[in-house]
Amino acid sequence: MRTRRSALTLIAGAASLALTLSACGQSSEGGSKENSGSAKGGTIGIAMPTKSSERWINDGNNLVKDIKAKGYKTKLVFGEDNPDTQVSQIENLITQGVKGLVIAAIDNKSLNNVLQEAADANIPVIAYDRLILGTKNVDYYASFDNEKVGVEQGTYIVHKLGLDSGKKGPFNIELFAGSNDDNNTKYFFSGAMSVLQPYIDKKQLVVRSGQTALNKVTTLRWDGATAQARMEDVLTSSYKSAKVDAVLSPYDGISIGIIAALKSDGYGSSSQPLPVITGQDAELASVKSIIAGEQTQTVYKDLRKLAEVAATMVDDALNKKTPQVNDTKTYDNGVKVVPAFLLQPVSVDKSNYEDVLVKGGYYTDAQLK
Ligand code: BGC
Repeated sequence: MRTRRSALTLIAGAASLALTLSACGQSSEGGSKENSGSAKGGTIGIAMPTKSSERWINDGNNLVKDIKAKGYKTKLVFGEDNPDTQVSQIENLITQGVKGLVIAAIDNKSLNNVLQEAADANIPVIAYDRLILGTKNVDYYASFDNEKVGVEQGTYIVHKLGLDSGKKGPFNIELFAGSNDDNNTKYFFSGAMSVLQPYIDKKQLVVRSGQTALNKVTTLRWDGATAQARMEDVLTSSYKSAKVDAVLSPYDGISIGIIAALKSDGYGSSSQPLPVITGQDAELASVKSIIAGEQTQTVYKDLRKLAEVAATMVDDALNKKTPQVNDTKTYDNGVKVVPAFLLQPVSVDKSNYEDVLVKGGYYTDAQLK
């Protein structure tokens, strides 16, 4: 007893004492579950949408690393693009007693019930990259400026076709959008259309398929094969006697499908070059495709930074600190405006991938060979 007391006197101040106690897994504040500073050492659940795209695998790994570095354990699950699977995975995480949740939703509206369970257990929820809609039980949102992603894609097309430097066209363009159950889809599309629509109105850009409304051009679950099939249909129905000059693609995996359809229709030779094709995520295969002269552009989003933001958010939320946000008006989920921290996307093509991706340490030259 004497030894224990004298050891304790060595600890300076109540703060250190609280830290020591919580490091031993005890609560220094009467055992309340939430925001007590006692979550350190506990587990954070990370629910990612799919392993079918490299970005989400990287996101998962980055989050595990950053959250562990803050003193937590982690449990990482992938929903394989099935909303029901994701709901039951999150239910399991809650049952296992996670202290916080970081979720990239598959279907932005399917999580209301399970997030009520999270709220009942006082578990803070960070929406990761994709906003979760229709519930008050989402605390913070970490993402990129999603409208800007689309603006970068649209601006790239206009610039590459020379429309901003006096070329009159008309040029033929086809439009693709992401999954209709992903809240980002409408931001990407409206950002791109804010740039493209004036040229469509002036008939300098022509959408020969006539498919211009968002609900005509979405791609369920961002699936490349679905995009490929649609591109094949469009080529057959609208391009027998004309060629495509540009394709707005919202995501690298969709661009891969579009390129496959174009190549099997004879594009990709010097007499019939591939059109300008955008993308998003700077996935390795697509950066290689850009270097090889197939895909033209992608929008790079530094996922390392996104994971850092989300890890800090969940840590702060569990430790009575208000997470830093830089947007408190854009992301209304139908029930509330979710405070967000938005990072900036960067347009990448053959001319700047070295500077942005290699010098920025995202890929090594060897990976891109
Ligand atoms: C993300 C994009 C990604 C897409 C498909 C969106 O929610 O913001 O980065 O390309 O999902 O995975």
